[in-house]
Parts: sequence; structure tokens; C-alpha cells
Amino acid sequence: MRGRPRPSRLPGVDGVPVSPLRPPRRERSAVPAPTIAGVRAILTAPGGINLVVVRVDTTEPGLYGLGCATFTQRHRAVASAVDDYLRPFLLGKDPARIADIWQTAMVSAYWRNGPVLNNAVSGVDMALWDLKGKMAGMPVYQLLGGRCREGVAVYRHADGRDERELTERVQAFLEQGYRFIRCQMGGYGGRGPRAASPEGALPGAYYDPDIYVRSVPRFLEHVRAQVGFEVELLHDVHERLAPIEAVRLAKQLEPYRLFFLEDPLPPEHIDWFRILRGQCATPIAMGELFVHPQEWTPLIAGALIDFIRVHISAIGGITPARKLAALAEAFGVRTAWHGPGDVSPVGHAANLHLDLACPNFGVQEWSGFPDPVRAVFPGCPEVRGGYAYVNERPGLGVDIDEEQAARYPCRDDLPAWTLARLPDGSSARP
Ligand code: MG
Repeated sequence: MRGRPRPSRLPGVDGVPVSPLRPPRRERSAVPAPTIAGVRAILTAPGGINLVVVRVDTTEPGLYGLGCATFTQRHRAVASAVDDYLRPFLLGKDPARIADIWQTAMVSAYWRNGPVLNNAVSGVDMALWDLKGKMAGMPVYQLLGGRCREGVAVYRHADGRDERELTERVQAFLEQGYRFIRCQMGGYGGRGPRAASPEGALPGAYYDPDIYVRSVPRFLEHVRAQVGFEVELLHDVHERLAPIEAVRLAKQLEPYRLFFLEDPLPPEHIDWFRILRGQCATPIAMGELFVHPQEWTPLIAGALIDFIRVHISAIGGITPARKLAALAEAFGVRTAWHGPGDVSPVGHAANLHLDLACPNFGVQEWSGFPDPVRAVFPGCPEVRGGYAYVNERPGLGVDIDEEQAARYPCRDDLPAWTLARLPDGSSARP
């Protein structure tokens, strides 16, 4: 019997009856499957923050997808990567092949894993998920496995000039139904009367890490005394401390039971997370500047963080984010995707579709949409009672009104806060 060919079980071969399964779409219909007919970046700043959205058109009239590619501080570089490089690469391709397009687009530049090209690929990637949802007649969360929850718990930013004002803002959010609140004093802090700078010190957004780090336990003590422990409090270090100061702060904050301490260290100092972990049990969220898998993989696999909070467009879109969420799930790490004003409503919707479908969702950062942003992006997600909801339209559910978008041109000057300096006048992480 050896060597004798076994009868094929494939449908329609060797006389075996044809399977009742439906043949692929393109054989079913005389209409050819759509291919990619247009790719372009749209720049707009309706909330005063530069946003980059990518529109992918197909050969089927009216069938297009939108993705977020927002890198606020380098928006034109991303637009060029989309219009000058990804557009010619993608024209004529099958938009259904998201995984293949992501892989080939990412490696076709040979050098990869930087924020400009990752954002450009994200714009295309999210647009293809949006398109796939529209073609399937389903919201994207259905394509990702369906709902794990009905709404997405969000956290808001409370900020005050002093402890009293901060506590008032926290209480205002509590009255609106929010249960997760990030507490900051004076933005990212350290803006007290600063030490004398040397003669001729350059202009910049000065902050004093010592003033900042001493203020945090003080204002958290005040807020906890006023609102108790029934509310989840968070705090963002924004990577503005020397590593050993970040370790000392995380230890000091243990009694205030933070939901998490955000970005205590910069991506350049990830080796310090092992030291931080060995010193205290303050939950750690990390990653809004991450762009490379080797930044998050050791932290997750080493059980060194509790929440992964990348900026999804900065890692390349929904395709890598769903894999990152699954990696995190295997190690007991929850998601807390970056959700500031420099994410377009299309990007916020992508965050929420992932949040709905990921079992290991933790919490979602939420900055809210000013009215001009809502006017430019019909279909924005809504928040009610501390939970965010996407609409149930196919795809990501958010559109763009390009006439409205054109009314809000992007600005080319850098935001002042990015030019940070320490008291002695030296340049610092913003
Ligand atoms: Mg942050």
C-alpha cells in the first residue's frame, strides 16, 4: 500500500462531491473584488492639535476606510510617508489582505520601527480594518472576536494649581459618574518658584524635578483625605525623573493605593523597571512612547509592569495592537491604551473597539472631544456615566467631513511644552 495515492478529500476533486460551503466572494459575484484605488493623508487641527488621518479608497465607489496616523509634532513627515511612499506601494492591492499589507508595508522601507513610518502604516492599517468592517457589515470589535463588555471604563484628567483646586476637579468628575481619575498639579508639575538659572539660560518650559516629586505625595494625601478610597486614582510621571527618584516616588505612593503610576521611567531606562519592581507594589503603567517590540516584550514577559499603554498609531495600528494585547494577556498585564487629544476620533474609536474585544482590558484614557472635533468627525464615540461607547455602524464608525476639516489647518510651530528645561538651563524630557 505504501506509495499509493490516497483519495483526495478536497471538494470537487477526484469525484468527491463539491462542499456546500460558499465559494469565495470573487467567484460568487460577477463584480470584481475591490482593489485599492487611492491612499492619502488628511491634515486637520479642529481642536487646536494637529491630527493626521489616512483615507484609503477602493475601486468600488463610496467604499473607503479611515485610519489614524497622528504624530502631532511631525505631522507633515507622516503625511509624506503616506502620500509619497505608501500610496504608490498600495495602489491596485487587495484591501482584504490586511496582515500581508501590514508586514510588507512595514519592511519595505528596510529600516523600521520608528514613529513616523509606524504612524503612516497605522493610518493604512486602521483604514483597512475600517474597510473590512464595512465590507462585512460589522463593527470592527466583531471582527476582533466580539464584545467582552458593554461599555469601556475611562479615566479623566483632573488638574489644579493647588491641592484644593485639584480636589474640586476630582469631585466634579465623580459627580459626572467617572470612577477613574488621573491627578496632576500644575500639568506635569515642578513649576514652583524655581532655583536660579545661570546667566544667559535659554528660554524653555522650565520645571524642577525636586519641586515636582515632593508635591505628589502631598496632593495625593489631600485628595484621598477628601474623597476616600472608593475612587480609583492615577498619576502620570511623564518620564520626568531620574530613575532612582522614580523608584523613591513609587515607594512613597504605596499608601495611596494608585490604580497605576504612569510612565515612571523613559523607554531608554527600561532596565530600571526590575529595580522598581523589587522595591514596591505600586501598579505600573508604561509605554506611551514605545515604538519597538523590544521595548515592551521584556517588560511584559518579565512581569515588570501591570498595564501596557502604547499609542496605537505609534506602534503601527490595530494589527500589532491586537497581538500586543494577546501577549499581555498571557502574562497577566492589562491594557490602557494612550488616549490624549493628539489621537483623532478615528484613533479613539480604534482604541475602544480593541477595549471591547480584549479580555485583559484595564482602563481607557479619555480626553473628550471639543465641538469643532465632533463637527469634523461625524460618529465620534460617546461617554455616559464613566463608560465610553462606540456607535454600531460597520467598521470603526467614524467618518470625516473634509470641507469642515479644511477650515482647521495644522500649525507647524512646536508646542511650547516640548521644549523642556531643568533649572540649570539644560534640555530635559518634556
Ligand atoms: Mg501619559
